[in-house]
Amino acid sequence: VNTLLQVKDLAVEFNTAEGVVQAVRGVDFSVGRGRTLGIVGESGSGKSVTSLAVMGLHRGARVTGSVRFEGTELLGAPEETVRRLRGRRIAMVFQDALTALHPYFTIGDQIAEAYREHHGGSRKAARARAVEVLGDVGIPEPARRATEHPHQFSGGMRQRAMIALALSCEPDLIIADEPTTALDVTVQAQVLELLMKLQQDRGLGIIMITHDLGVIARVADEVLVMYGGSAAEQAPADALFTAPRHPYTRGLLDSLPRLDAEEGEALRSIPGSPPSLLDPPAGCAFHPRCPVYAAEKSELCTGERPLLRQVAEAHHNACRLDGVTG
Ligand code: SF4
Ligand code: MG
Repeated sequence: VNTLLQVKDLAVEFNTAEGVVQAVRGVDFSVGRGRTLGIVGESGSGKSVTSLAVMGLHRGARVTGSVRFEGTELLGAPEETVRRLRGRRIAMVFQDALTALHPYFTIGDQIAEAYREHHGGSRKAARARAVEVLGDVGIPEPARRATEHPHQFSGGMRQRAMIALALSCEPDLIIADEPTTALDVTVQAQVLELLMKLQQDRGLGIIMITHDLGVIARVADEVLVMYGGSAAEQAPADALFTAPRHPYTRGLLDSLPRLDAEEGEALRSIPGSPPSLLDPPAGCAFHPRCPVYAAEKSELCTGERPLLRQVAEAHHNACRLDGVTG
């Protein structure tokens, strides 16, 4: 496998007035060229903080562990090294294109500026490149649309424009944080299809961060399920959907709308709320919500904090009761 990004034992802590927030605790993952890693979890699971830490955008936080991009360590690297990679080799796509795009400048100028910042060259060449990538992401009449401002674009078109902005510098890795959450279902499907097509054409590595397992099912090759700042389960996507092992993952799957659902069958969601990161529950952070713990009351659940263990080929689970009988 051609590894682009390798993250090891990543931990992120913040000081707050109430104490130290452990936003991410000991997460490992890697992303290969042409592969999509899905990171899924509720808000507060640490999935967005993980991506910001990878991008060196974790202001004021303590970040430890290792983040290697094509073998170069980014944690603790000079700001200049990280800035050169950011945008140029690693690009981000966010949920809300309106905050990522500047309201006063035309879409074309913004893409051209970003391109020039990393590649130099003439304004004219950069403008031509902007029109080209707007066409690549399926925006009709790209030369005309390049002269418009963000508010003149629909939500879906704005999201495409942000992907064009990310692509203009020909990155190797795209980190997409809830890129389709604000879109309606049809447009969401189109934007995901676009990302998959661009991946095929260009061999992009993609990290897809979302709370929505439906999105993960469409795009991911590998999946990392996060809960309370830690990895709960990590597996190839097909294994995760056909043979989920962690009770939290099973709960997420149960709350997915199903095509074969009986009429009137209620959608289940996981009762309770995500754990406090200031004062996480002892042992397994999921235990206050875990149906298995509710039934078994095992001391394994409230003792040591569970770490990922291999439970099948390429399949890792942090549930301490996996494989334990009685
Ligand atoms: Fe549930 Fe215990 Fe497994 Fe945690 S370790 S997921 S509480 S059964
Ligand atoms: Mg988020």
